[in-house]
Amino acid sequence: MLAGNEKKYVLDCLDTNWISSRGAYIEKFETAFAKFCGVKHAVSCTNGTTALHLALVALNVGPGDEVIVPTLTFVATANAVRYCGARPVFVDAEPRTWNMDPALVEAKITPRTKGIIVVHLYGHPVDMDRIMEIARRHGLFVLEDAAEAHGAVYKGQVVGSIGDVGTFSFFGNKVLSTGEGGMVVTNDEQLAQTVQVLKEQGMDQNRRYWYPVIGYNYRMTNIAAAIGLAQVEKAQWHIQRRLEIAAWYREQLEPIPGLMMQVEEEWARHVYQFFTVVLGQDIPVSREQIIAHLLEHGIEGRPVVYPMHTLPPYADPALDGEFPVAGMIASRGINLPTWAGLTRADARRVCGALLEAIGTATLFDPPSNSVAIDSTVGTS
Ligand SMILES: *Cc1c(COP(=O)(O)O)cnc(C)c1O
Repeated sequence: MLAGNEKKYVLDCLDTNWISSRGAYIEKFETAFAKFCGVKHAVSCTNGTTALHLALVALNVGPGDEVIVPTLTFVATANAVRYCGARPVFVDAEPRTWNMDPALVEAKITPRTKGIIVVHLYGHPVDMDRIMEIARRHGLFVLEDAAEAHGAVYKGQVVGSIGDVGTFSFFGNKVLSTGEGGMVVTNDEQLAQTVQVLKEQGMDQNRRYWYPVIGYNYRMTNIAAAIGLAQVEKAQWHIQRRLEIAAWYREQLEPIPGLMMQVEEEWARHVYQFFTVVLGQDIPVSREQIIAHLLEHGIEGRPVVYPMHTLPPYADPALDGEFPVAGMIASRGINLPTWAGLTRADARRVCGALLEAIGTATLFDPPSNSVAIDSTVGTS
């Protein structure tokens, strides 16, 4: 949601002709975002997928390597591993936070394993102490895919700052957005420099048009960075809005038997990129029927993503049955409308329609106007 200086800063770009990937807002946004995450370095790029790709290339992930990845994630996490010629090795979710289960990670480590990507799903932090301990013991890197978790906190530390490197997305439905955009954050100066070089075609920073390595053009524009700066300035407002919306949903949905939600661990600050409900086995209505019912009331409820191990590029029949928790969440989960502009009345309408669909007594106002799932239309 655009609620601050976005327009002012974008107009400044237009008025001064600084619309491409040079300009003052790039560095301002990077500096502000690094401070927001509590890290030394932040390097902007075109989106959350290229942020993952840059980080993995900078960590020397290549053909023959394996990288441990949660199966319950957005497809970009797995694809970025494949872009490097490496193989993602999937791990099931745990039933409380729905994040990758740390207890299942060690069994997936082989001599080829290079690192672990954790995903702070929907904005709930992963139990990082357990992951870091395993990674250190086996000499693996830890990449935090924090695309859904801007400003989420694990035991006092902002996510993205805990592993060796963190990546963010600023797509339209994320906690903070630049339209399209991404960021790589790290305390490792060498890694930050490598990412900087890679995103600029691999050009030697001291010798123009000299390319010692193969790089990419993954540069963010000054206009996107201008929007990003305005978003970071209001980050705490964006997060507070989502916490308020989640509290409304919880107040109305937690008492309903058979509905499951992510548990907020006491060591975590969740930032709710999505508020999601999972239908228990005892709810007699199918997820598809519920989504259709919501839609009749002008409410977009989205199915949770398919787990990676079920998608054609990654499917492996040998692994069938290995991911029961992710399978259950993915097949019975619905993302409810979650964006910073949602009102209490919207939340009541969503809950009213949801409860009507599952056949629970309707204690709520009848749904009326349309409630969009986020500030964009037709997104993944
Ligand atoms: C959104 C998302 C990405 C990709 O970000 P884009 O900016 O859309 O490329 C990567 N990982 C996760 C977990 C995401 O939710």
